Amino acid sequence: MNRNSSRKQRDLAQIHSLAKTQRTGAKMAKPTSRRAPALAVVLALAAALGALSSTPELSLFRSSAPFWGWPVPRGRFEPVDGAPLLYRMDLPWFVTPFHKETLDVFAIRLHKGGDEFAITDAGGYDTPLHAHATELERALRELLGSSGKLTHVLLTHGHLDHIGGLGRLIKAWPDVKVIFHEAELPFLVDATRAHSPPWYAAGSVGLRLTHVIGFLPRKAFVLPARHAVVLAGKGGDLTKHGVPGVTWTHLPGHSPSHIVYTLSSGIVLGGDIADVLLDPPGVKALPDGRPIVPGKVALFTLTVMADADATVAAASLCRLANDKSLSWQRILPYHDATKAGFTRAQFRTLVEESGACRGK
Ligand SMILES: [Zn+2]
Repeated sequence: MNRNSSRKQRDLAQIHSLAKTQRTGAKMAKPTSRRAPALAVVLALAAALGALSSTPELSLFRSSAPFWGWPVPRGRFEPVDGAPLLYRMDLPWFVTPFHKETLDVFAIRLHKGGDEFAITDAGGYDTPLHAHATELERALRELLGSSGKLTHVLLTHGHLDHIGGLGRLIKAWPDVKVIFHEAELPFLVDATRAHSPPWYAAGSVGLRLTHVIGFLPRKAFVLPARHAVVLAGKGGDLTKHGVPGVTWTHLPGHSPSHIVYTLSSGIVLGGDIADVLLDPPGVKALPDGRPIVPGKVALFTLTVMADADATVAAASLCRLANDKSLSWQRILPYHDATKAGFTRAQFRTLVEESGACRGK
């Protein structure tokens, strides 16, 4: 792997697992003094851009319209084929100006003919490249209509690209409940451990720049405790929490708190347990070192992340694929290059290819 791509991969990993670097105490390299003058100029320019981007009157920077030449279509929730009461919104996510991922946010209509909804997960933050949270709220209002209500956000885990819209959604629907696993609790409700470490001081040059420009959130998001519904244990039913027909299963590894949600239609909303990438930029190999074949879909659970445990993640993947006590037919990941998800048989093949079940 060349130096550029490995740096890009490292930065991606750091961005994605921003919430957890504090936990692991990971230290990132400081720039050398030779870089300092150039860095100062770049940071000064970036700070000016950042100031512009956070000035509400200059709404160009918060627009969801194409910006800096990137065509960003207005997203909307569309019905998911074969899944009654389930809708998907495909949000483009510019991790940096040069790297686009997608986020698939799902909305569940809680009762047939009703107008109460839950969503999984909550998208990314508003950044100069894409007004994520704003866009998510707008699309939700369109789906819900004037009488509809967002009652629950089902978090698979608390990484940045899963909680970015929470602040806006809570403002828009003040009674909304946010459901998540107990292992995520300290990072969502404790300001001292929340999801925004001091990037200026701790990040690599690229990350500092990214933060200054505003691609990363400036302030920690802290979930007000009254919105929190904390799930303890290994799994259960959400009916008693007001989400009928949905069960949850704790499948850690990508993060200690990671859970998936299974709908009564047999669909698993898989979060990051089974990220599916197609030629991810800057990533040339699977976590076990095997090269990614261009054009071929690969299951990449992002186990290179700072807070991930590759062994635990492999066990979770293997369990989801093969454990007969987990009843499901189709999985829809949060980052899905295919946009189609996988049947259980297809998923089992991908898991086998990934080597997750080796020796089990
Ligand atoms: Zn994640």
